[in-house]
Amino acid sequence: MTTEFLKAGDEHTICALSTPPGTGGIAVLRVSGQDAYKNTRALCGFLPAQPTSHRLYHGYLKTADGHETIDEVVISYFAQGKSYTGEETTEISCHGGLVITGRILQQLSETGCRLANRGEFTYRAFMNGRIDLVQAEAVLGLIDGQSKQATQVAFRQLQGELSQEYARIEDALVWILAHLEASIDFSTEDIEVVSNPELVTRSMAVMNIVSQLISSYQKGRLLREGLEVALTGAPNVGKSSLLNALLREDRAIVTPIAGTTRDTVEGRISIGGVPVTFVDTAGVRETEDQIEKIGIERSRMAVSRADLAFQVLDVTSADWEQQTVEIFARPGSRDHVLLNKSDLLLNGDPDLSIFPRERIFLVSALSRRGLGDLEGFLTREIEKLDSGSSLVVTQARHLEVLNKIHSCLDRAIGLIRSNSSPEFIAFELADAVRGIHDLLGKEFDEQIIDRIFKEFCLGK
Ligand code: GDP
Repeated sequence: MTTEFLKAGDEHTICALSTPPGTGGIAVLRVSGQDAYKNTRALCGFLPAQPTSHRLYHGYLKTADGHETIDEVVISYFAQGKSYTGEETTEISCHGGLVITGRILQQLSETGCRLANRGEFTYRAFMNGRIDLVQAEAVLGLIDGQSKQATQVAFRQLQGELSQEYARIEDALVWILAHLEASIDFSTEDIEVVSNPELVTRSMAVMNIVSQLISSYQKGRLLREGLEVALTGAPNVGKSSLLNALLREDRAIVTPIAGTTRDTVEGRISIGGVPVTFVDTAGVRETEDQIEKIGIERSRMAVSRADLAFQVLDVTSADWEQQTVEIFARPGSRDHVLLNKSDLLLNGDPDLSIFPRERIFLVSALSRRGLGDLEGFLTREIEKLDSGSSLVVTQARHLEVLNKIHSCLDRAIGLIRSNSSPEFIAFELADAVRGIHDLLGKEFDEQIIDRIFKEFCLGK
């Protein structure tokens, strides 16, 4: 399979609208390729024959036949080697409107430009060695980032921090490989033969770095996708009401009849710039109703997928204390308890000091009591995600390759320890190096390239 982009010798100059389609103050169209300036100049007669890179030129853009003026524009010119793609590029800033931008694109195609595919500008930047594959993915993370932290991580990846870490891993692996080769072939005189314990120490050091990167993925995924919080509990405890209260809108249907929420209902709020999705699940109870059964099954899935699970209990019920004890006693339980309907407590608040703090909240969907504390708790959970100075892996693709590298190193260490033949050890380490190459896009699989760049929007 060849990728959409990898058409050998496709030296077409490409063009696309780089701002979102629609109406706006201005829109920017991007033209990249060896004829970018020539083709733009064919519509913009005011441009000089010898432009200066990184300069703006103002004038009127006309149809290719010169008969009609389409718009007043500003052209930015970037010389070959000095642009995002590495190719000669122009950016046309025009008035933001679907008709104007459509007409300019039409005229650009009259001059010989081809409409760019999704992500093709970034793809060209990658192919021209301006950025590696990790950085190309970071561009996507920067555009799609749903939170401040997610865009900060993406920005640092675009600056090359993660790529440099991968390069350091590669260097360390290559060092070990080179010394192994020396022991395979003693005639290599310029490399000393190192002892097995040293090979183990060095391999372990690399494996630790890889492990840290693997464990950063959980954080990376949360940064990208935000927190998912499941609200579960028996019918009528007030899950839908709590969802509405948290979202401050009527999203779920609230009725006094048990079993009304037949399916999961989701709602998203932003806390500290991080998306938090609440999923109100169907009341968990035995039922013969087929539709409700499907809802309950979905609710179980939502709970297993969620980052945090809130069990909602009715504080006016006789057995809430017993239920809370059971919830916290479940092996491996991560659940939190929301004691709802606290506005109905006539004889003061119950004593919650016997339960772990931060795991139980006295709330009321009706009076909004305790919802501030709940949001405060979620804020603290999110703050724990703060990317700080450590490197964070955000892509599932990286996780997959890092796991593979980890296994290779694990096997290599086992082989060194059992004094196996250096050829076998070298085989594993070479596989690990190939993994790093995959990550950086040094050796690439066309299907992977296709998958990555297809996620891009047009014009990027
Ligand atoms: P769900 O089945 O768990 O989603 O429960 P609902 O949100 O549909 O609520 C069931 C009933 O409890 C409705 O009549 C709500 O008005 C009521 N309810 C929910 N939360 C509260 C609360 O905090 N205080 C009081 N007094 N009633 C509530």
